Amino acid sequence: MPKLATRMGRAKPSAIMVIAEKAKRLKAEGRDIVSFSIGVPNFLPGEHVYAAAREALEKDSGQYGSNRGADALLDAFLKHIEALGLTGYGRENISTGVGAKQILYNLAEAMLDEGDEIVFPAPYWTSYLDIAEIVGAKINILPCPPEQHYKLMPAQLEEALKRKPRVFLFNNPSNPTGMVYTRDEIAALADVLVKYPDTWIITDDIYNTMVFDGVGYHNFVQLRPELRDRTVFTDSLSKTYGMPSWRVGFIAAPAEVAKAVTTLNSNHITSLPEVATAAAIAALSGPQDIPAKMCKEFAAKRDRVYDALVSIPGVVCPRPQGAFYAFPDISVAFGKKHNGVEITDDVTFCAALLEAKGVACVPGSAFGEPRSLRISYSCPDEALDKGMARIVEFFAELS
Ligand code: PLP
Repeated sequence: MPKLATRMGRAKPSAIMVIAEKAKRLKAEGRDIVSFSIGVPNFLPGEHVYAAAREALEKDSGQYGSNRGADALLDAFLKHIEALGLTGYGRENISTGVGAKQILYNLAEAMLDEGDEIVFPAPYWTSYLDIAEIVGAKINILPCPPEQHYKLMPAQLEEALKRKPRVFLFNNPSNPTGMVYTRDEIAALADVLVKYPDTWIITDDIYNTMVFDGVGYHNFVQLRPELRDRTVFTDSLSKTYGMPSWRVGFIAAPAEVAKAVTTLNSNHITSLPEVATAAAIAALSGPQDIPAKMCKEFAAKRDRVYDALVSIPGVVCPRPQGAFYAFPDISVAFGKKHNGVEITDDVTFCAALLEAKGVACVPGSAFGEPRSLRISYSCPDEALDKGMARIVEFFAELS
């Protein structure tokens, strides 16, 4: 058989998808499974979104769309980000993609030659590592353990930037930890970034509407506008509007970067589908009550999950304040047994939990923190309480 490209030796299927598929398979076999594995928001967009999509379907132009995104979509996004304090951008600063994931891949292709350095904190969203590996970048991961609430410290960032990496990639609110940086924390990191002009800054802010406890959402450009000419803001409809299957993502970036991503689009995808474009415009320009309502609901779910986790002796969980994830340190279980099964690490823990209790979580090592696991808690309250009760029970049965 002919050989595949060398880069495929570095490409792995998403660890999250592997667990989610296993949970699905067990469910199909008739097991009572609670899946906390996949990061879907579990709500649907408003009727106005479907109405716009139906209309677009009926009016099908029979043409390809714009590589950058339809003008009306760019304008709707520009208006949307103004509310986040990102002002002074024009259409030339925006580009679109098939979800934030594809845009992040485009950005890596646009910014990183093989061997160029990318730096990002751990815990990280799994695809950051995979994308960086596929493009052959040199990867510098900055460990941010539970003791520092999984947050990057300015001194850590400064040390990393002294090496003049090509790209710094930052995610806030965080998947997998649910941590949200305060205004002061963002300002302190921004003050460091200002001093190192050789590095592109990519912020993945796709959970920006899901912030609890009045912490508020903040970004580098809002607080230090001088960072605008090397910062890329990444957003998506997937989580905010409950539209993961519509595959619409955005960047607001320096014009040169938006143009590069658009050029890659012209070769990778041509354009977003017309129907998804119409739906996206409707979501961005229509009533914003659904994201606000979901934020409230996720805050209440966070309380249920957090209260259950901190009731377990030895489990440490920095309190999540955004997105819909909790990321407890479960290392107290390592070295113990459950029904004779040895728990040696996060992977054996998650396998035993799924086998014994039918609860699917993603091992922390998939996110660069092997002491923890990720709970995606967007499911209905009944399933949430059932799953958390089983986790509590599992810990109580360890010997
Ligand atoms: N960035 C983060 C932090 C995510 O959690 C996800 C999806 O889970 C993505 C990007 C990709 O989102 P999209 O559905 O827009 O591709």
